[in-house]
Amino acid sequence: MKYYSTNQHAPHASLQEAVVKGLASDKGLFMPERIKPLPKEFYDTIENLSFQEIAYTVADAFFGEDVPADVLKEIVYDTLSFDTPLVKVTDSIYSLELFHGPTLAFKDVGGRFMARLLGYFIRKQGQKNVNVLVATSGDTGSAVANGFLGVEGIHVYVLYPKGKVSEIQEKQFTTLGRNITSLEIDGTFDDCQALVKAAFMDEELNEHLLLTSANSINVARFLPQAFYYFYAYAQLKKMSKADQMVICVPSGNFGNITAGLFGKRMGLPVTRFIAANNRNDIFYQYLQTGQYNPRPSVVTIANAMDVGDPSNFARVLDLYGNSHEAITAEISGVTYTDDQIRETVKKVYQETGYLLDPHGACGYRALEEGLKLGETGVFLETAHPAKFLETVENIIEDKVEIPDKLQEFMKGEKQSLSLSKDFEAFKRYLLSV
Ligand SMILES: *Cc1c(COP(=O)(O)O)cnc(C)c1O
Repeated sequence: MKYYSTNQHAPHASLQEAVVKGLASDKGLFMPERIKPLPKEFYDTIENLSFQEIAYTVADAFFGEDVPADVLKEIVYDTLSFDTPLVKVTDSIYSLELFHGPTLAFKDVGGRFMARLLGYFIRKQGQKNVNVLVATSGDTGSAVANGFLGVEGIHVYVLYPKGKVSEIQEKQFTTLGRNITSLEIDGTFDDCQALVKAAFMDEELNEHLLLTSANSINVARFLPQAFYYFYAYAQLKKMSKADQMVICVPSGNFGNITAGLFGKRMGLPVTRFIAANNRNDIFYQYLQTGQYNPRPSVVTIANAMDVGDPSNFARVLDLYGNSHEAITAEISGVTYTDDQIRETVKKVYQETGYLLDPHGACGYRALEEGLKLGETGVFLETAHPAKFLETVENIIEDKVEIPDKLQEFMKGEKQSLSLSKDFEAFKRYLLSV
């Protein structure tokens, strides 16, 4: 299958080119030429299939023409070495827990899949020294770094905003060593993202280095996120509650929700989507006004959603033919302040015993406020609450149990290099290593 650019000025690319390059040469995002609907029989019996079986069917629709079946199956099965269970919070609201992977956030799915697919392409081409650049607001860095750790021929550079990620998040990528280098940037997440984008556009750099991106602009990270939307439906269907499924996604760069929108295009019966924003409500404002006005991000307690110019907005527009009307027909939005997030974490913990993380709290609240009679809501619980330990413990005034996987990371020693947000400095550094 070919991939076109959302800017329409770059030549169509093969899957391999799209994965290796990350961003199209006209700065657009790659989109698959076709989104294949899955057959009715698949949906009729989906509740009898395992997560891995469901995911392989979805993966085959996107990647089956370009990756041999046995290789693709192995990549999918290996990626999903953990479950994403649907857990009941109230009678009509369910949490799709995406935090059971190695770094306890949903990005493990895309990060692990991309590492394996890129590894396959690199082996096939006999390439060496591929450099993966990834900007992170917290969770991407750890998922990508852990996904790629030890993959031969690939070096990963994680760019993160100094002082703006939690200590646990930071430990998850700065302690790994080996083929992972962490760069602490004196700036915001948007500055980190801008550096990565500038690096891809810089001719001199690209002459000397083979660069690729592991942000959700990369199709190999972004598309696999569709897997668990299908699995959520399967789990809800098993409980006979899937008739009017509403999915709410705590959103930052909009990669996660866009994968869900692709799922709907493939026939997944989702009644509607809700995009939950924190105070960085650029998408929410777009829904209200039809105007897209990116602006610098502000810091919130749901820091992985602190994005002022969501990359995947271009994909949403493309998917709906640039029609504001079509977009608002399927997606609504909400925006919450830090106080509202705190209030929600506290209330849900007190009333149900379920502990939300600050991102999931936005998702839960949107459903609590916005579900209509007969609808069942699923929110994506995008990270484990212990990843935001201080914040969450302060809210609930109680101790949060730290999973063993996280405790292991805490024991490591932070190693990172400090850089300014100046592109020339970043470029000189990359050319020097
Ligand atoms: C990355 C992240 C988000 C935002 O996901 P996008 O795909 O960027 O919209 C939400 N919550 C958590 C915990 C994250 O790590």
